[in-house]
Amino acid sequence: MAGFLTPDGPHEWPTLTYAGVMSFGRAPYARDLDDVDLAILGVPLDLATTGRSGAREGPNAIRTESAKLSELANHPHGFDPIARRRIVDCGDVAFDTNRADTVVPAVHQAASEILAAGAKVVGLGGDHFVSYPLLRAAAEHHGAPLSLVHFDAHSDTWPDDGERLDHGSMFRRAVDEGLIDPATSAQIGIRTWNDDTMGLDQLEAHWVHEHGVAATVQRVLDRVGERPCYLTFDIDCLDPAFAPGTGTPVVGGLSSAQALAIWRAIVPNLRPVGADVVEVAPPFDVAGVTALAAATLVHDLLCMWPGLADRSR
Ligand code: MN
Ligand code: MN
Repeated sequence: MAGFLTPDGPHEWPTLTYAGVMSFGRAPYARDLDDVDLAILGVPLDLATTGRSGAREGPNAIRTESAKLSELANHPHGFDPIARRRIVDCGDVAFDTNRADTVVPAVHQAASEILAAGAKVVGLGGDHFVSYPLLRAAAEHHGAPLSLVHFDAHSDTWPDDGERLDHGSMFRRAVDEGLIDPATSAQIGIRTWNDDTMGLDQLEAHWVHEHGVAATVQRVLDRVGERPCYLTFDIDCLDPAFAPGTGTPVVGGLSSAQALAIWRAIVPNLRPVGADVVEVAPPFDVAGVTALAAATLVHDLLCMWPGLADRSR
């Protein structure tokens, strides 16, 4: 299995980081899931935003920035996960943007097919609503309820009637439907008000700033433990200084350095069964920094995901 890389050699040019086919990390674009351990799945949706749209362009922006991580930027992991692991990019879920009722079935089906083939799914948003069908597929496959590890400025647990296409209420629905167990779930970086935490442990951004990375890591690991968990990273968890390209930015957030330190400390010690990175809205981005942050989080995830077989292509 080979990605879209030009083999380096004395008579060949190395692959350019800014040109060519922009799959995630230059992984093979494939829907054939034979012998695949993890699949990237783009969900170019922004119909569920309450503020500015634009996240439909997120998956490809993240892919474009991911190509820059394929060479020297494998620090601190020291290897290219695409070269060492069986990872494909399945492209983007197809749905009719003018028929909102096609969104949940299409995303759920795409994720379910990957899971049924024995691979993990890493979703690229899209607005945060995409987590709902991805999470539902993961919970059905691995057994509900899952623990949720949720990075965000927003709790995304505002009122939901079970039918909304809303990126601010789908985790309330997920709790109501028994997909996630709030008692073993944590939210990191919250800095918006919500009267009802639904019983999730909220590590607000100011708490993270006051207590630091190590205390944050410990509190998340204590809360979630060995349980199967779903990781979701809304890029607006980062401060707008680090992630301006998002629909509903809130000041006072985590730096990209804080977030990476937490991410790198928790992922190897958790038991993830699904993950996504969402809410990158390229029309509001500056020099691609938001998409680059998202690409780095996904790249790190591919390096650190516990239990992924280490096999050379
Ligand atoms: Mn969110
Ligand atoms: Mn948010």
